[in-house]
Amino acid sequence: MADDSTILSLQGLTKRYGDATALEHVDLDVQRGEFLTFLGPSGSGKTTTLNLIAGFIEASEGSMLLDGAPLEKLQAHERNLGVVFQHYALFPHMTVRANVEFPLKQRKMSKPERVSATDAAMEMVRLGSYAERFPRQLSGGQQQRVALARALVYRPPILLMDEPLGALDKKLREWLQLELRRIHRELGSTFIYVTHDQEEALVLSDRIAVFNEGRIEQIGTAHELYDAPETLFVGRFIGEATVIQGTLAQGRFSAGGRELQVAGSIASQRGAVLIRPENLHISDAAGTSLPERAVNRIEGTIEDMVYLGPERKYNVTTELGVAIVRVPEREAAAARIGDRVLVGWAPEDAVLLDDAESQDEPVRAI
Ligand code: ADP
Ligand code: MG
Repeated sequence: MADDSTILSLQGLTKRYGDATALEHVDLDVQRGEFLTFLGPSGSGKTTTLNLIAGFIEASEGSMLLDGAPLEKLQAHERNLGVVFQHYALFPHMTVRANVEFPLKQRKMSKPERVSATDAAMEMVRLGSYAERFPRQLSGGQQQRVALARALVYRPPILLMDEPLGALDKKLREWLQLELRRIHRELGSTFIYVTHDQEEALVLSDRIAVFNEGRIEQIGTAHELYDAPETLFVGRFIGEATVIQGTLAQGRFSAGGRELQVAGSIASQRGAVLIRPENLHISDAAGTSLPERAVNRIEGTIEDMVYLGPERKYNVTTELGVAIVRVPEREAAAARIGDRVLVGWAPEDAVLLDDAESQDEPVRAI
């Protein structure tokens, strides 16, 4: 239930367009001061949710509370939220300073207050020396920083950002991600950020809400989503994993005609075992032994091997699909591409999940 640490609460939020449902019964409590990211594939409802919060569209059902007060009654500009969306462009005929100052003029702030708040916002995004330039004289990254300063200048309690770095190249994006973290720390306000890029979500967020087909599948820290995904979709979307799909009957899990040991339980008979690369062990061609606890063992052939500095990554083709294995370099066995090896894992190092995806399909492995 929402309490004082909750700044924004979404309850049963639903958005339909004709027969199509863009967002279906989303419940979410946003914590005061957190950096929350909406992560999900294209079309999963992230922008729709942000647009509902911003007041750009109206919900079909459900409610939103900002500090306990209904948000729906307020027009977008009355909500006083900061917005950095890709389509929310800068005013081309105004200088950087005039762009950043604009929301303060709208709010009828006095001139001296405006000047000091505008200076502070431009310093915050490190554009103080660009104050008299026009947007066309700035790079894409600089323009996005101006947009950020304009959204922050009136100190909104919540800043909403929809893929603000999407159009920038990787290096610039990575640098601005660190800048966003710094600005979030310095301001202490609540950030809600949309991205389809899981690495970006991992770098930025205190918590991540994973969207899929108009629903939030799971909300948690990066660690929680990685170590304890609650759905197969989340397990696959965050980080790498080997997934073995199969059937569960009387506590026995079988895949491809083999029985595997599992820990935990699921509701349905179709299940999947998800194993993170660092939880898989690999023998070398000479058959060096796997740890005793790795009781599940499959034979396979090393298809590929990549050095990643401190780690080595193997792709091993097995009768149950491709296994992805990561081994610390100093523990790596002398296995080469083409070698026959064993991969193994302990049941308690794998996650057993319902497999809603293949309820009607024959057993297969990915
Ligand atoms: P995301 O931001 O996660 O990529 P969106 O929230 O933009 O996804 O869209 C969610 C779903 O709603 C998609 O299937 C999209 O096609 C649909 N949708 C979004 N806006 C509209 C609209 N104005 N009219 C009809 N369908 C829409
Ligand atoms: Mg979107």
